[in-house]
Parts: sequence; structure tokens; C-alpha cells
Amino acid sequence: MANLNRYKKIVGQETIDELRTLAGYLRGKKIQHINSTAVGGGVAEILSKIIPLMKDLGVDTCWDVIKGSPEFFNVTKSIHNALHGKESLITKEMWDVFNDVTAQNVKEMDLRGDIMFIHDPQPIGLIDRKPGMKDAKWIWRCHVDVSKPDRKVWDFLGNYFNRYDAAVFSSAHFSHTMKPRQALISPSIDPFSDKNREVTGEEIATVLNKYKIDPQAKPIVCQISRYDALKDPVGVIQAYKMVKKYVDCQLLLVGNRAADDPETDKIYKQVLEAAGGDPDIHALLVEDVPYEINVFQRVASVVVQKSIREGFALTVSEALWKGKPVVASAVGGIPLQIKHRYGGLLCHSIEGAAFSIKQLLNAPDYAKKLGENGREHIRQNFLLTRHIKEYLLLFLSLYSENDVITP
Ligand code: UDP
Repeated sequence: MANLNRYKKIVGQETIDELRTLAGYLRGKKIQHINSTAVGGGVAEILSKIIPLMKDLGVDTCWDVIKGSPEFFNVTKSIHNALHGKESLITKEMWDVFNDVTAQNVKEMDLRGDIMFIHDPQPIGLIDRKPGMKDAKWIWRCHVDVSKPDRKVWDFLGNYFNRYDAAVFSSAHFSHTMKPRQALISPSIDPFSDKNREVTGEEIATVLNKYKIDPQAKPIVCQISRYDALKDPVGVIQAYKMVKKYVDCQLLLVGNRAADDPETDKIYKQVLEAAGGDPDIHALLVEDVPYEINVFQRVASVVVQKSIREGFALTVSEALWKGKPVVASAVGGIPLQIKHRYGGLLCHSIEGAAFSIKQLLNAPDYAKKLGENGREHIRQNFLLTRHIKEYLLLFLSLYSENDVITP
């Protein structure tokens, strides 16, 4: 059972008291989160941590997942890519698939929240149920970098998002002119989750042994991400090859599958081809075992997030929380997490990434300092408690004074 009190030693008693006070005003309201996968990717990661703590606060919260065929998730992946500004053709037949699956979910899902909290484009069409749920408030939470979306796709989604009461984005750069009021709320990490807690020496040894990785042999450069073109794993390999000419190191690429991402095998194949059998490149396609990710981040000398587009990149906060020096692209929500040359290094190209990785491998004291600063920045801004507070405030803001229950 998640217990908010243990966060006290990290964020202080006042923060906990504040959360309990805010939560008190929401007694009697049910919050229903809906997204498109229970496992894999940042959204599922965050929901799995937020929901138990909301419950601990006495906020009646539940989480459901839409159903969709593989064909539907092919379409939604194209929508996702188009929202990120990547050229992708969405044909009339593809929109038909999207509309059919949406209609099916609209018809069959048990929607029961006083606040309906819909994550990302895949389930956005559930808003069609709004007329039948007169008192419910609807929030669309967009986790995607929509700073430069494909116009046609964005306008199509506008038929849906303009009917919501509120929209939430991770970065101010993603905001657009739209009917619902907008909130800027960044994601967060849970310092007590298996992915971020302290790990034992035995756990580290077990994981390293399982994947045959020896951090003593050569320093490890690591990127943890789904095998997705927008995470640019092939670009990471190219950067590693540039670094390797000057500093001997090994590269660890780790990715799992997400039920709503059909491109894993294609991209993983490209990664293996680019690796070309280099024994110092470990490209792992893994099951979802959070403490293993924790270990990989902890044994790395440098953590990389060389994304081309990014909603937020929880992996950056996760690595910084572990005091790791991070080299990451200045895209999406990453610059919120990294102040360049203070709490990590931002890069703009493969060459830039290589330059920064090399610099950090050559200057361990500087790397350590960046990691320390980065950790403090995450403690102050990107832990779960700040995120929960902002969600509670958002929920309350949807009601007028008379609707709110006095605790
Ligand atoms: N992740 C994981 N196993 C992997 C790769 C990623 O558990 O093999 C996790 C990662 O630690 C992070 C989440 O999945 O918590 C990815 O979130 P992020 O915001 O970085 O990217 P997204 O996948 O949502 O685009």
C-alpha cells in the first residue's frame, strides 16, 4: 500500500499536509483515468504511481485502458508521429479504423468518473459520451510534444479536444489556441518506485550477471528507451562510435515493448544492423522489470537521451535522480529538466551528443557535479508530490465554489 507519509523525508511535512488538505475538498468525487496501455512508456509508468497515492489521500481514483486492434494501434502510432511533426500519411481508411474503434470503446466502456481524465490521442474520442454524463468534467491530458504538429491531424483531433473542459500539456511550448482552458503540468517520478529506489549490491550483481555486462571493463554510456525512431537509438550508436575513437567505452541500449507501440521490432532490427556486431554495444530488448532499469541507470557513467522529439522524457528525471550526468537533446520537456552546463548537458545533433559524452567521460569530477545539481533540480521540481498537488488543484479549478465539498 502506497503511503504518502514516507515522502516526508524527501519533500517535507508541509507538502504532505498541503496535499491532504487539497484532497479533502475532493471527497465524493471519482476520478477515472483512461489511456491506451497498462504497461510500457511514460504514461503507464506515471499512472501506476499516481493512483495508489491518490487513493492514500482518500481521492476515489480508478484507471481503465481502451481496447484496440493492432490495426488501430498502427493508426494511432502514425497519429502520434504526425503530432510530433514527423511526416506520416494517414489515409481515409486509417481514419475509418480510428473512428470505428473509438465508437466501439464509446459504446462499451464503463465510464463512471465525476472527472474523466483522458490521456493522449488514442482514447480522445471518449468525449462522445459527454452529453450522457451531464455533470462530469472532462480533461484531455496530452503527453506528446505538439509544438509543431501536422496541421491536418491536429485539426482532426480538434473535433474532440475542443469539447473538453480542460487540456493539460507538459511544456508551455506545446500550448495551442483551443476552446478548453489549458494547464501546464509536467510529469514526475516516484523516488520510492522500484525504478528509482536505492538498490542493493546483490541486485546490481544479479542484473549485470543476467545480461553479461561488466561496468569495470569500460565505462558505460546508456540510453533507456522504447525502440522508437523518435528516440534516435541509431543516432546514439553513431555518437558512441565517434566517442569510441577517443575514449574506450561500451554502449548499453535498453528498451521494452509497449502494447500501443507497433514499431519496436522494426526499429530494434535497425539498431542491431547499426551495431554491426560490435561486442561493446549491448542492445537489449527487455521485459518490463523496473528494478533492472534502475540498475542500468546506476551503473552508467553517462546517461543519454538523444530524442528527436519528446513529450517529457521521464528517463531524464530518473537518471538525474540517481545523480547521473545526462546528455540529452534540447527537445520537448527535456530543457525543463536540464539546465545546460549546470544540471546536465543539452545537445542538438549527433556530433554534439558525442562531444558532450566524451567531455563527461574525460572529466569525472565535472560529471559528478552536474549529476548532483541535476538531482537537486529533480527533487525540487519533478517528484510525484508536486505532480499530485497540481492535479488536485486542476480538479478543484473545474468546480465553482458551491460544488466543492468542505472537508
Ligand atoms: N522504460 C522501461 N523499460 C525500458 C525502457 C523504458 O521501463 O526498457 C521506462 C522508462 O524508465 C520510463 C518510461 O518507460 O519510466 C518511458 O517514459 P519516457 O517519458 O521517457 O518516454 P515514452 O516512452 O513515454 O515516450
